[in-house]
Amino acid sequence: MSEEEIAKLPGVGPAILDKLREAGYNDLMMIAVDSPRNLAELTEIGEATAAKIIAAAKKAADVGGFETGDVILERRKTVAKLGSCSKALDELMGGGFETRAITEFFGEFGSGKTQLCHQMAVNTTKPVADGGLDGHTIMIDTEQTFRPERITQMAEASELDPDEVLKKIHVARAFNSHHQTLLVDKAFETAKEFPVRLIVVDSLTAHFRAEYIGRGALAERQQMLNKHMHDLLRFGDVHNAVIAVTNQVSAKPDAFFGDPTRPIGGHIVGHTATFRIYLRKSKGGKRIARLIDSPNLPEAEAVFMVSEAGISD
Ligand code: ADP
Ligand code: MG
Repeated sequence: MSEEEIAKLPGVGPAILDKLREAGYNDLMMIAVDSPRNLAELTEIGEATAAKIIAAAKKAADVGGFETGDVILERRKTVAKLGSCSKALDELMGGGFETRAITEFFGEFGSGKTQLCHQMAVNTTKPVADGGLDGHTIMIDTEQTFRPERITQMAEASELDPDEVLKKIHVARAFNSHHQTLLVDKAFETAKEFPVRLIVVDSLTAHFRAEYIGRGALAERQQMLNKHMHDLLRFGDVHNAVIAVTNQVSAKPDAFFGDPTRPIGGHIVGHTATFRIYLRKSKGGKRIARLIDSPNLPEAEAVFMVSEAGISD
């Protein structure tokens, strides 16, 4: 459908269509909102041609105008909330993790990021009345830390049939950052077949951090991360799905700025994530979650537990 629209643009023949496809442009809007320079670079066509195609895409796409607040409020009512199995954490999040938004968990190794993602995948299968979304999960696993055994334990603790739950979690390993971004396209395909209501990227940043080294690579890394996160947001919008991403930080011994930890991904991840939750370990399996950044909720903390049964108060 979208590709047909792109093919109809004046100036887009089969060769250019191929180049656009290869560069990941599968939607009129993606072209319409891009800059000629970026499009030219990614597709290896001339900048003048790129500008013409963008102008045509702008005409053809509904770039959107302004909406009044009441219309937006009406749409906000369709936002659903996913429970975490911890009342305190749900309260911190204003009732649960919102659909159509990116929730970023950042914290040190072992702070509970992956455990939370597992619990969210289990909870997504639950009926809405039980804090679920009655749906499936897509998990992009970049560190190979997905454990079906953990899903089984958590499902049993919630009195769910573990086999049924496992069948609703679609996991793909991402071997590098490029593969990771391509898996979002795959997710759109999977979502045609299954009602996917949660997409997890655990970890969002590890591959990017390992691959783009040094100051010279920073701009490109941020650009790729930015596009990846916007693809995720689009998935969340189209499928009214929760988006959960993780981001590891390491404590610096010579803490200079008070908080010794800083999430990587810098401004791009920080500004694109709708909710940022800083996780840290406390005594006896306890974890502290601090909501750092939210468009509509106060900065606050919640304490929860990670145990064999999963997340709890
Ligand atoms: P990260 O933030 O690095 O992703 P994890 O979410 O994987 O960290 O958290 C790992 C921690 O979760 C372990 O150190 C342990 O405290 C806890 N954990 C993992 N599995 C279990 C289990 N079966 N029973 C109790 N605690 C567990
Ligand atoms: Mg992890």
